Amino acid sequence: MKTIIREVKEQGKLIGLVPTMGCLHQGHLSLLEAAREECDFTVMSIFVNPIQFGHGEDYEESPRDLERDSRLAGAYGCDVIFSPPVKEMYPPGYSTFVHVEGLTAGLCGASRPGHFRGVTTVVTKLFNLVRPGRAYFGQKDAQQALVLKKMAGDLNMNLEIVILPVVREEDGLAMSSRNSYLSPEQRKQAAVIYKSLQAAEKMILSGVIDSEEIKRAVEAVISGADLARIDYVEIVETGELQPLSVLEGQCLIAVAVKFGATRLIDNIIVEV
Ligand code: AMP
Repeated sequence: MKTIIREVKEQGKLIGLVPTMGCLHQGHLSLLEAAREECDFTVMSIFVNPIQFGHGEDYEESPRDLERDSRLAGAYGCDVIFSPPVKEMYPPGYSTFVHVEGLTAGLCGASRPGHFRGVTTVVTKLFNLVRPGRAYFGQKDAQQALVLKKMAGDLNMNLEIVILPVVREEDGLAMSSRNSYLSPEQRKQAAVIYKSLQAAEKMILSGVIDSEEIKRAVEAVISGADLARIDYVEIVETGELQPLSVLEGQCLIAVAVKFGATRLIDNIIVEV
């Protein structure tokens, strides 16, 4: 990877990086399309990063199909797929980690201790290896996007973090490789997640600004699905991700819901 990047850099090309964990779907491919359009050379990393998974999470089960992913990425104009072995990314004795404080405390950071430390560490390593001018991430992982923007700013990383909209299935469910773990009945019920966010948006547009009232409505819609278990429903501002009691400015409504062992997240941003 370093040799390829050295050559590309010598030609003065702008490098776009799309970090993923593989099992590609239209969400990933939308990032790739943007990278290809805006950059001269596009790299997609496919790496299931062990250090961002907690005990009992789905690291081992994370679906892997590098052959299919390579074919798809190639068809979307990706120049190189970078899929390093775990033991090269974290050789024995590896001991350096990147941690963003504050922004990582709530939401998924609270439910998944150590998760963002794993994400920021691997993304820093990928940035150092690929040296992109632009790196592409999805709004689907809203907190992750903010955390990475903060990291890039705080650590003077010379690149632009580009965040692109959530790509959804026809029934509104945010695309995710985890959707494939759902049973047919769970999959059907999972559409309730986006419906709950739409209900919140409708309330806000009709003038409701009381956070508790909106959260209660979101929870009620999700609870309508008997297989859904709510991890969190939060309404926060989009700067520091602090909870809002009264909605004002840009508000992030973020939810995490479990269907069986499968944890799904989604969010919308509403301007009040
Ligand atoms: P993952 O492979 O799940 O780590 O995701 C890799 C990148 O794709 C991350 O930046 C995600 O935010 C983004 N992504 C995942 N799902 C979607 C989606 N449904 N829409 C847009 N971006 C997505």
